[in-house]
Amino acid sequence: SDHSLRYPAAPNRLDWSTHFPDGEPPQWADIGCGFGGLLVQLAPQYPNVRILGLEIRVQVTDYVADRIAALRVAHPSSYNNISVIRANAMKFLPNFFKKHSLSALFFLFPDPHFKSRKHKARIISPTLLAEYAYVLRPGGIIYTITDVKDLHDWMNTHLSNFPLFQPIDEDTLRAQGHGPVLDAVYTSTEEGKKVQRNKGDKWLACFQRIEQPL
Ligand code: SAM
Repeated sequence: SDHSLRYPAAPNRLDWSTHFPDGEPPQWADIGCGFGGLLVQLAPQYPNVRILGLEIRVQVTDYVADRIAALRVAHPSSYNNISVIRANAMKFLPNFFKKHSLSALFFLFPDPHFKSRKHKARIISPTLLAEYAYVLRPGGIIYTITDVKDLHDWMNTHLSNFPLFQPIDEDTLRAQGHGPVLDAVYTSTEEGKKVQRNKGDKWLACFQRIEQPL
C-alpha cells in the first residue's frame, strides 16, 4: 500500500540537488521505471537532459538508486543526469512537476490490469491524462509501449481522444532525431528485454502535447 508515501506540498518544495548535482528539475520522467533500464541507457546519450524515474515499489526504487550511485562512482562524469523517486505516479503528479516543465513522459510496459473492474487502476486514464497534459509542455512527447494488445488499444484510444494530445508516428519522431529514444523505448528496459526473450509483440504509440485543442 502507498498510505505511508509522502508528497511534496508543491514542486518548489522539492530540493532537486538531492537528485541532480546541478539542482535543476528533471525534463523527462519515466513513469513506473521498474529497474531503471531506460534511465541507464539514455543517461550517457543525453547528458544535458535530466531524467527522473518514478517507481511505487520500495525495494525496486532502492535498487535503482543503488544502481545509479554505483554508476556515478564508476563513471564520475556520467549518470549525474538520472535519478529515481519513490512515488505513486497516479497521485499528486503536479506536486512533483511544475506546469509545462517536462518535454517527455515514458509509459513503458505498464501493468496491464486485465480485468475490467481493474481498468481504473490503469496508469493511462481520462483523469490522469489531464495531469500529464499539465506537466508536459506543448510539443512534448508521450511514449507508450506494451506487449498487451488490449492495453495498447486502451492507451491509444484514450490518448487519441484527449484534445491536448495528437498521435505522432514513429517515422516522424525518427526524422526529428528521436531515434535513440525510440530504440531505448523498445529494448532498454527489463520488461522490454523479457518480451524480446519470449519473442512477444511490442506495440508502440506516441503522442505530442499540442498547444490548443484542434
Ligand atoms: N517500465 C519498466 C520496464 O519496462 O521494465 C517496468 C515495467 S513493470 C511491468 C511496471 C512498473 O510500474 C512496476 O515496476 C510497478 O511497480 C510500477 N508501477 C505500477 N503502478 C505505479 C504507480 N502508480 N506509480 C509508480 N509506479 C508504478
